Amino acid sequence: AKRQGRDTLQTYTPVLSEQTLAKVRMAKELRLAVQQAALTVFYQPVYSLHTGRLSGAEALLRWRNQAGEWISPADFIPLLEESGQIVPVTDWLLGRALSHLRTWRQSWPDFRLALNISAISMQDRHLVNSVERSLLRHRLEGQALELEVTETAFIRDPDKASLVCDELKRLAVDLAVDDFGTGYSSLIYLKRFAPDRVKIDRSFVAGMVNSPGDQALVRAIIELVHSLNMKVVAEGVETQEQLQLLQQMGCDYVQGYYCGRPQPEEAWVNVVPNLFTH
Ligand code: C2E
Ligand code: CA
Ligand code: CA
Ligand code: CA
Repeated sequence: AKRQGRDTLQTYTPVLSEQTLAKVRMAKELRLAVQQAALTVFYQPVYSLHTGRLSGAEALLRWRNQAGEWISPADFIPLLEESGQIVPVTDWLLGRALSHLRTWRQSWPDFRLALNISAISMQDRHLVNSVERSLLRHRLEGQALELEVTETAFIRDPDKASLVCDELKRLAVDLAVDDFGTGYSSLIYLKRFAPDRVKIDRSFVAGMVNSPGDQALVRAIIELVHSLNMKVVAEGVETQEQLQLLQQMGCDYVQGYYCGRPQPEEAWVNVVPNLFTH
């Protein structure tokens, strides 16, 4: 049947499109980048909106290709997922990010680092083993780490994802639902997986000041999340107006260009320790 599938493909797609070729080329270059460790990680500060204090950071993958351009992870994460490379890359990222985290916790004892985890990884115990090993190696407690997963992770195979979540909770690792409000079945999954934090997607934050609808949504999400005893993080905060509005609404944490851009670890000596006294 496989063979026939291949023949069928050849019959109906005699020439590869420009787009497909570009994708294949990119996948190949990416494979090399992974092998040669040409991926790096940037960190974006996260602040408490109650105290203004730096509370931690989100790790964001970066890839500088052979032409010297920075490629957004939004463009290459899907390729890593399709080619099965997301697992080794996540392992690498864990090791790298936790060694930075270890250093930061010497200056800020409560510093928490958030890592993005693909839906695919949430289906597999490998992630749990990998997290456990990295925490041990860097002598870090689970609370120092937060894993961000999107709602999609729960939809694929809720039972498997549920198992992985339970195991991660056993390690005391925090869980956050990322891009909240952009997926499906949000409420069921919120209840079932009981994350520590919920991240309001940037698109709502962007619309909030001018669109009464978006503003009402953000307000409602904050109330809902608080009523479930979880904390709210607003991402993509770009203006002081947005920050003040979120503060009035009781949002717990903020992240965005207004507070600090994603930057390499070396640049962290210049990070603002408190948003309010700056
Ligand atoms: P995300 O998790 O929603 O990450 C936030 C994205 O918004 C980041 O884009 C960040 O640079 C950007 N951003 C932060 N503040 C602002 C702001 O104020 N305004 C605007 N316009 N953008 C802001 P980035 O770094 O390009 O990452 C894109 C997506 O790639 C992430 O979205 C995440 O889903 C994924 N990703 C990044 N790193 C990893 C990783 O290590 N593993 C996995 N599985 N996915 C990752
Ligand atoms: Ca994220
Ligand atoms: Ca997000
Ligand atoms: Ca987002």
